[in-house]
Amino acid sequence: MAKVQLVLNAGSSSLKFQVFLDDGADVPNRIYRGLFEGLGTDPHFKVKDHDGATVGEQRWAGQTAFGFEEALAYLSDWLGAHRGGHQLAAVGHRVVHGGPHYTHAVELTPAIINELDTLSPLAPLHQPKSLEPIRIIARRVPGLPQVAAFDTAFHRTQPELAQMFAIPQSMTDAGVKRYGFHGLSYAYLATQFPKVDPRLTKGRVVAAHLGNGASLCAYDASRSIATTMGFSALDGLVMGTRSGSIDPGVVFYLQREMGMSAEEAEHFLYTKCGLIGVSGLSNDMRVLRERCETDAGARRAIDLFVYRINREFGSLVAALRGIDALVFTAGIGENDAETRAEVLRAAAWAGFELDPEANRAGATRITRGTGPQAYVIPTDEEWTIVREMRQVLSHTAVA
Ligand code: ADP
Repeated sequence: MAKVQLVLNAGSSSLKFQVFLDDGADVPNRIYRGLFEGLGTDPHFKVKDHDGATVGEQRWAGQTAFGFEEALAYLSDWLGAHRGGHQLAAVGHRVVHGGPHYTHAVELTPAIINELDTLSPLAPLHQPKSLEPIRIIARRVPGLPQVAAFDTAFHRTQPELAQMFAIPQSMTDAGVKRYGFHGLSYAYLATQFPKVDPRLTKGRVVAAHLGNGASLCAYDASRSIATTMGFSALDGLVMGTRSGSIDPGVVFYLQREMGMSAEEAEHFLYTKCGLIGVSGLSNDMRVLRERCETDAGARRAIDLFVYRINREFGSLVAALRGIDALVFTAGIGENDAETRAEVLRAAAWAGFELDPEANRAGATRITRGTGPQAYVIPTDEEWTIVREMRQVLSHTAVA
């Protein structure tokens, strides 16, 4: 039986997973990637091998009682039976919030799981979901090493001022501060800088993670010094369904004048705003691109998305006191040449010169000239998780 390491990423109704050989190789050897989606409504399991061929698929139509517990049991059986069987050596989890103190991944113990649960008020929609599979596995397979890798951890190198709001110190000390997210993606990109262009490693770089969630991160010599997401993953850029930065006065207005409860206002800002709210059409950039020639709402949503990126980009360039490179990643950043072109044209003030052919062709470098350069680097959060897990477990083994 091949020993494998499993990486899990739990969403509100989905469980994404990837499986890596536990072979001690420097470059993680990924053998499967897949997901359960529609958990709690119409569960569906699909898994592909390294070459992208579907090697497993199953539906449980209408089985609303099929959740994480059932999904993990099914996955464990599937791994045990598939291609001669796989034995789980460890599980790594994407955990949204590591609070102010977790600067690296950590091996989970019952005490640490409870401590992470105390951070749930900081990310009520995401943290409990991250912890659910961890608890299920701890119960089902008590001796199996589990590691949490945090979306906030990469940003803990930021200067104190970049992490503060202008509120009394006692509240900052109580944890009301800017944490930042998408850290597993930004950590991965930093590992790719030396391969893409060695000058990035020591340079001033802004990365744009543009997916359903979207944010920017400013790196000085590969370390995060500022980011657009703050206390929550609601802050910063326009996103698929989230508003991004909004005057806090609007939140009071929603409650006082529009009769929303705190939970309703939160739900509204997370799920009914952003690209879908502005366009009235879709949160999917592909749909907006198809319709933007004829649909004013689609055009306005895209224009606001790009406008806000340029505004926030300017703020990060100010924090870096200059800019050497801009990196695009995630669903929109990797695939949508139009958005990249619009962002780079808007950022001409910073000296970027778009190379339209390279951009359309999907090249790694998409600018020319002597000014700052722009690159496209596909992200890989699971790769960061498995690498961090291996570091943590090897240290534990030595200690
Ligand atoms: P998540 O944050 O859920 O991981 P992704 O990184 O997968 O999101 O990004 C999803 C976004 O990427 C969606 O808006 C989708 O429309 C967009 N996207 C994916 N492929 C393309 C494409 N070929 N052209 C334009 N947008 C794309």
